[in-house]
Amino acid sequence: ELLARRSASTGPGATSDGHPVALLANIGSARDLAPSVEGVGLFRTELLYLDRTEPPAFAEQVAAYQEVFAALPGRKVVVRTLDAGADKPLPFLRLADEPNPALGIRGLRVARTMPSVLDTQLSAIAAAAAATSADVWVMAPMVATAGEAAAFAASCREHGLRTAGVMIEVPAAALRAGAVLRDVDFLSIGTNDLSQYTFAADRMCGDLAELLDPWQPALISLIAACAAAGREAGKPVGVCGESAADPDFALVLVGLGITSLSMAARSIPAVREALAAHTYDECVQFAKAALAADTPTAARAAVRP
Ligand code: PEP
Ligand code: MG
Repeated sequence: ELLARRSASTGPGATSDGHPVALLANIGSARDLAPSVEGVGLFRTELLYLDRTEPPAFAEQVAAYQEVFAALPGRKVVVRTLDAGADKPLPFLRLADEPNPALGIRGLRVARTMPSVLDTQLSAIAAAAAATSADVWVMAPMVATAGEAAAFAASCREHGLRTAGVMIEVPAAALRAGAVLRDVDFLSIGTNDLSQYTFAADRMCGDLAELLDPWQPALISLIAACAAAGREAGKPVGVCGESAADPDFALVLVGLGITSLSMAARSIPAVREALAAHTYDECVQFAKAALAADTPTAARAAVRP
């Protein structure tokens, strides 16, 4: 029993009846790595680019990515390409002043005006991946259309990166998740931004916390649409926003068909425990009840009456 308990507290994520759910870590650099993680579901690369008047050089990027990949031999690492702009302004991008930066040139959109930044980053990720045995996946932030997703996947493949996906953070992309998935290998839902853009509510605005609640029915509906598209295409759909760290919400996500959950490493044990305490079928029932609820309060009560 002690052995079983130990594996339940450190092993890979699964429901009590063995339905696997990868529990991955969100990191900003190798310093955030915990040795026991199954893998990394969101490697935010912005840290490398902060406070720079020029983008980081190719060799410097290769070294930073390689440090992370080398620490996770054989394990999955999802690298997100630079998510600049809006709340993450970078001096070297010299973006024009925008009245609404959250709705401006940010995330993958930067590649329109400065394609070399993405190009260098993809080359560096590919070089670092080739030097280690980590299972490297790459994804783009702030994708709005299937065309953008296809163009990003094509760039990844040109660089020899085999597994390319996109984040779902814009409602337009969630509504067309099936089309977005046609040319990419996976989706990862960023619920922080998806909430912000779905509810037209600045994610940093505490006064709007009620709208930004992940239990909002509209957000759950969009997540359900993405999960259904993934199931139809036979491709993985993960969640890497803060919502994945709520153990009760994680049960709903799994019941909706989400295949991996990525969060701060310290949040993983509680989520693992919640999953291990419920069957997949129970998760499906929670998801159905949450989808049928009209308010966040009612959705929560579906899981915890
Ligand atoms: C998100 O938007 O949910 C996300 C995971 O990305 P970030 O928080 O870095 O914008
Ligand atoms: Mg985001």
